[in-house]
Amino acid sequence: MIEATEIDVSYDGIQVIWDLSLSVPEDEGVIAIVGPNGAGKSTLLRVLSGLHPIDDGRVTLWGEDASTLEPSEIVEKGFVHVSEERNLFDEMTVRENLEMGAYTRREGLEGNVREVFELFPVLERRASQRAGSLSGGEQQMLAIGRGLMAEPKILALDEPSEGLAPQITARMFEKIEEISEEVTVLLVEQHVHRALSLAGRAYLLENGEIVTQDTGPGLLESEYVEEAYL
Ligand code: ATP
Repeated sequence: MIEATEIDVSYDGIQVIWDLSLSVPEDEGVIAIVGPNGAGKSTLLRVLSGLHPIDDGRVTLWGEDASTLEPSEIVEKGFVHVSEERNLFDEMTVRENLEMGAYTRREGLEGNVREVFELFPVLERRASQRAGSLSGGEQQMLAIGRGLMAEPKILALDEPSEGLAPQITARMFEKIEEISEEVTVLLVEQHVHRALSLAGRAYLLENGEIVTQDTGPGLLESEYVEEAYL
């Protein structure tokens, strides 16, 4: 369980998140965060993963104050963030990239690789290829697979469908749904309709503030989303 309470966040003195509160429980499958470009979605994920400080408010992860935790400790506690940039090691193989995801432990690694290969069979076929040689969709699968290698309780995905062809995007959403049966997924997405359809809980973020929250389908039917996106 992650909770942010009334947080303010800024870059170089310019505030971009205002008095934001949100919680990520572990029994609702997909928790979606939607909102226009620049709303602060990626910033929020960076804050939760300990990569960017808050100016005010409080973030707790499983009851512990996040300000006392290093990003690596946040991973160990069970929150893993797959950023928009993917950050793969291009010169390393697919398998080596996956192994890097489990850097905090050595036991059970082979079993985790196997599970990732079952989820994304294409990665097994490409296991000894350089990550840099993969297609965009395959790289995204590898980034998600590497995130899963750390055995997260909550997996944050920032725009996993970014840059993917429509057909691949549809497959990616199927995979996200499959992952969410085992691991809570905190999902930031531009494909609002698809994201909300999956979400047990959803937040609409605009200009750094939560405008409304509901179940995913509930938010899909709300006037805010209807006006803004549909
Ligand atoms: P997008 O979908 O475009 O990534 P977003 O909702 O994820 O949008 P953020 O990337 O979190 O939004 O950006 C929120 C605000 O913070 C924007 O005004 C953006 O310009 C600003 N911002 C983001 N990153 C930085 C940074 N490294 N330095 C300064 N300002 C930043």
